[in-house]
Amino acid sequence: MYKSAGSGGQTGEYAGMLLAMLLTLFVLAAPQPASAQPESMAALPEVIDARVTTTPQRARLILDLSGPTEFAIASLDKPGRVAIDVKVAGIKFAVPADVAGSGVVASYTIEMAEAGRARTLLVLTEPAQVQQAYVLDAVADQPARLVVDLILATSEEFAARVASDLAAAMANQGVAPETVSTDPGTHLPVPATRPLVVIDPGHGGIDNGASAPNGVKEKEIVLAFALQLQDVLVASGRFDVALTREDDSFLRLEERVALARENKADLFISVHADSFQQREIRGASVYTRDEKATDVLDKVLAENENKTDIIAGFAVPEMTPAVVDILVDLMRRQMRRQSFLAAQSIIRQLEPSVTLRRFPVRQADFFVLQAPDVPSILVELGFLSNGNDIANLQKSDWRDRVVDALARGIAGYFDGIEEPMVAERANSN
Ligand SMILES: [Zn+2]
Repeated sequence: MYKSAGSGGQTGEYAGMLLAMLLTLFVLAAPQPASAQPESMAALPEVIDARVTTTPQRARLILDLSGPTEFAIASLDKPGRVAIDVKVAGIKFAVPADVAGSGVVASYTIEMAEAGRARTLLVLTEPAQVQQAYVLDAVADQPARLVVDLILATSEEFAARVASDLAAAMANQGVAPETVSTDPGTHLPVPATRPLVVIDPGHGGIDNGASAPNGVKEKEIVLAFALQLQDVLVASGRFDVALTREDDSFLRLEERVALARENKADLFISVHADSFQQREIRGASVYTRDEKATDVLDKVLAENENKTDIIAGFAVPEMTPAVVDILVDLMRRQMRRQSFLAAQSIIRQLEPSVTLRRFPVRQADFFVLQAPDVPSILVELGFLSNGNDIANLQKSDWRDRVVDALARGIAGYFDGIEEPMVAERANSN
């Protein structure tokens, strides 16, 4: 493992280890191209059933599988179709091709495109796009499944999708663009990179964060919360999700920021449940960073958070020198705007579900929100200095509600930003 000389060695090694852990997560989560590695046919599952249901607004394809597998999706035009390739040994049922309902999908076919790969083709009646696609493991009496949801799109959106799928296919395998739309023997591009959400459970290790009188610790509450939020986001099929810590380990604030930056996160969410001296203050709130925040209480809160590294025996790292590059300044402004939009989107979803602080979108100088190139927010779930909040934070139904609201808020934020912002990350890798 990399080791730098001098007193920084331990830190470098630690950060390197964390990064390695994070990257492992990525590799596991990332879909592999169908042709990535030759596998014996015996190891591949089979398609055991297929069905398509459709309405005027949406359609869903479900492939029942004898085990989980990998898939790839592409949009094709003339006529408008969506092709879904799955890595399987064979198709073990009489192909029905009847579509239940009427609307987005007119008909579909499923056939082996080549050994080890089945292609399902959905013929569209109007432009549509994949809203989400994911593979589920078998549960109880349900087999493993591939689920693909389609929603209506504009002609422009559909044309853009067709073009980017062609480009991705060309980049993947150096084939001529036409072959993707006409030849079922062509491998499809793997699904585009999903936005990466980095969730940062506050505190950890020797830093307990806040504590309730009954002994409940902030570091434990926020970790459980972050793990559950990760599950919900991953299950949606829309996001890659990584945690800065997945157990009770200590991380410096700058390491949390560095993990988000080095992995080009699309959104960084730090999760806390701190204490206030004013015990009557309660409710959830979402912070974005502002070095000039004026609210005294918020300032105290941020200062206490920023002291984490002193508690742990580290010096608070020096702030970066004044930013002179105008481009960096512009980027910061852009990130501030994006952070604010993310905070707003989350608060909109939290509002009907839980008690919020007055003015729930707030600004304070939290060190952990300083990345100049990653939209960053800090969610205060509630306060461990308030009896009502303490009770809520320990209720599983309250946690379920808040996790679901946060997930909806995150999805809403990404729905609102233009695709290029997310696509850039995919292309820059
Ligand atoms: Zn905290």
